[in-house]
Amino acid sequence: MNLITIDGPSASGKGTISALVAKKLGWAILDSGALYRISAYAVQTKGINPEDEGAVAAVVSDLDIQFKTSEVFVDGVEVSDILRLESTGKMASKIATYPTLRQALLDRQRNFIHGVAGLVADGRDMGTVVFPQAPLKIFLVADVNERANRRYKQLVDKGIEANFDEILVDLKRRDEQDMNRAVAPLKPAEDAVVIDSSYMGIQEVVEAILGAWAD
Ligand code: C5P
Repeated sequence: MNLITIDGPSASGKGTISALVAKKLGWAILDSGALYRISAYAVQTKGINPEDEGAVAAVVSDLDIQFKTSEVFVDGVEVSDILRLESTGKMASKIATYPTLRQALLDRQRNFIHGVAGLVADGRDMGTVVFPQAPLKIFLVADVNERANRRYKQLVDKGIEANFDEILVDLKRRDEQDMNRAVAPLKPAEDAVVIDSSYMGIQEVVEAILGAWAD
């Protein structure tokens, strides 16, 4: 089965690395974080009470979600920029603690494997919950200061005003929430290959993953 899972904390470079690995292999990508962000977007725009777990899970079940190259459409509306907002990420992390929402997204995630040459699945629980059968599971880690630094540079490069200390505090809070939730906490699968990318370049990490796949 042509399937590689890449899990890890926020700003560990999973998105960029998954895209490069998928391109190199000619495979599709599942950006599962986008599904949690889409759920957050739906909660925020449809007037759903984020504290109401049942209502959050219900709203997601009916959404028409389309991924087209680098754009994402929800019920026909292009939402790519909204999904990247920090406020959307925060809400995503909050509602991702709800077991019923995670369950509602499970089949949507598993469907990505059908009809493609192969799949790189990027997220927090790809190797532990969604695709436990994956032949190669990567767990990507990086020092939190280094991750904050990368995110800070990304924003500044895009001309967006950013505050390093705020980013650092936010990443730590997100790590804490993702690692300590009761359902599908962020942790490496028992058979995962752990790569610490703190002092590695992106290309080096991509080569390490491709090398592990070839083995
Ligand atoms: O990866 P990204 O930052 O887009 O994910 C947003 C949030 O969605 C994460 O902070 C995490 O709480 C949640 N998430 C998750 N499981 C996944 C992917 C993302 O719980 N597989």
